[in-house]
Amino acid sequence: MSELRYLNLILGDQLDAESLLFDDFDSQRDRLWMAEVSAESTEYLSSKQRTVLFLSAMRHFAEQLKINSYPLIYWTLKDKKSSFPEALSATLKHNSFEKIRCVLPGDVRVINEIQQCAKGSDIEIEWLADQHFISEKGEFKAWLANRKQPRMEFWYRQLRKNRQILMENDQPIGGQWNFDKDNRKSFGKKGPSKLPAPLLFEADDITRQVTADVEKFLPNLYGNIKSFNWPVTRQQALEALKDFIKHRLKHFGDYQDAMWTDEPWLYHSRLSTCLNLKLLSPAEVIAAAETTYAKNEAPLNAVEGFIRQILGWREYVRGLYWSYRDDWLQMNALNARRNLPTLYWDAESEMACLHHSVKQVLDHGYGHHIQRLMVTGLFALLWGVKPKAIHEWYLGMYVDAVAWVEIPNTLGMSQYADGGIVGSKPYIASGAYIDRMSNYCQSCPFNPKQASGENACPFTTLYWHFVDQHQDLLSKNPRLGMQVKNWHNKSQEEQQAISQRAEFLFRNLP
Ligand SMILES: Cc1cc2nc3c(=O)[nH]c(=O)nc-3n(C[C@H](O)[C@H](O)[C@H](O)COP(=O)(O)OP(=O)(O)OC[C@H]3O[C@@H](n4cnc5c(N)ncnc54)[C@H](O)[C@@H]3O)c2cc1C
Ligand code: SF4
Repeated sequence: MSELRYLNLILGDQLDAESLLFDDFDSQRDRLWMAEVSAESTEYLSSKQRTVLFLSAMRHFAEQLKINSYPLIYWTLKDKKSSFPEALSATLKHNSFEKIRCVLPGDVRVINEIQQCAKGSDIEIEWLADQHFISEKGEFKAWLANRKQPRMEFWYRQLRKNRQILMENDQPIGGQWNFDKDNRKSFGKKGPSKLPAPLLFEADDITRQVTADVEKFLPNLYGNIKSFNWPVTRQQALEALKDFIKHRLKHFGDYQDAMWTDEPWLYHSRLSTCLNLKLLSPAEVIAAAETTYAKNEAPLNAVEGFIRQILGWREYVRGLYWSYRDDWLQMNALNARRNLPTLYWDAESEMACLHHSVKQVLDHGYGHHIQRLMVTGLFALLWGVKPKAIHEWYLGMYVDAVAWVEIPNTLGMSQYADGGIVGSKPYIASGAYIDRMSNYCQSCPFNPKQASGENACPFTTLYWHFVDQHQDLLSKNPRLGMQVKNWHNKSQEEQQAISQRAEFLFRNLP
């Protein structure tokens, strides 16, 4: 067996033709390698939508590599390899390589698995830098080293200044860094009018074959596949970007936090899958938004609000994921101990907000940020779900979920399991918030204003229960401290009625 040079691994979320793997690729001496392995959907939860998205995008990427005459070793589900180590070992059995190379994966577990396998096969592995992001290697670490309490806002400002994004010399365009207060509109009683439908991508032959393979080799995955409509190629990703910029960006800011029954997309971009699979680069998405502002085709609150999500939050959570890489899954600052209620798997709930938000996840693998944070995430937080259980649900059920972005968002921002690394306080609210930002409560048997009694909204009951249970923590925060005072201002009978109702819910929700 003659020795080849590099075995270049491409994982499902590394579909980037510009990655460092291609820089010095030599078709005579090197090979590309991709693998569809069952454990990524069975041992680790992955819904139908998420699995089909990843595998379809991988097969489309592989097809492009073949068109461009790259030598590629590709294991499909039919080859029945259960894990990356199994598929990799099988390749190494039949071919001899000097070295394995792989762009640093976005999941510590996958790094460990591949590392172990390379060690077992006695072959060197080189991790290449992931150049897909805006911030460079070491940049976040250096920034974090000078902070007592990291906050996204200051990281975002630094990146804007250094990269001159929406800046006039050293000042933010429009004279302020942030237009958040303009960006919290709801749709009012009438609801959204004339929503511009996003470009949806029908399944082609490759996606249909993937779906058939998934049904055959990975039966029993959660969710529905009929409604699959995600972009799966670079070309489609570019079309999706163009469509968002042209039709929805202008209202992105205004209605960023609003929710509406049976309207999953509203003015959101649907670009997280393209970004996370690396079909689009964050730099090109930001540049497209900035150009739209420069051409006066979208207002500053929309463009800044959108850019902040990608340049700010996305880069920030990535930095934090790597800063606490081995610690995340042990975190449980609020000592949450309950199991995930069954409604998260079947959307069976009288609570209209949860029914619609979970149904959307089963049908599309999608919820926008506020549905994730203030409906599904909030309920799990108030319920006291074990952080690992809710993390596994988010990682497996959303099409855009990859550990580096899902973990800090779920365990940090949403569940406060990190004790305040990602955000300064738990994101808690009563049913009144959901009522203000959506029409869900209009079709719900519960009353968002009521905290006790049969008609009480479970969010409102559990909100006060949470305030009661975590008084010490909440008192340290000025805004939440007020709520602790409000809890104490309630009569003893009222407090008792709320506690009884909370106990009733804990006993009766499956
Ligand atoms: C509990 C929880 C779990 C989440 N899990 C994921 C996840 O697994 N994968 C993921 O990409 N995002 C995750 N997010 C962040 C956010 O909800 C999604 O990025 C967004 O809803 C994707 O839809 P969109 O592309 O239409 O986004 P838009 O609303 O159009 O936003 C534009 C882009 O900004 C980026 N973005 C926005 N908010 C965040 C954020 N908080 N962190 C990182 N990037 C952000 C995304 O790339 C997104 O595509 C999570 C948020 C919460 C609260
Ligand atoms: S009343 Fe409560 S449970 Fe019902 S939709 Fe409103 S917030 Fe959700």
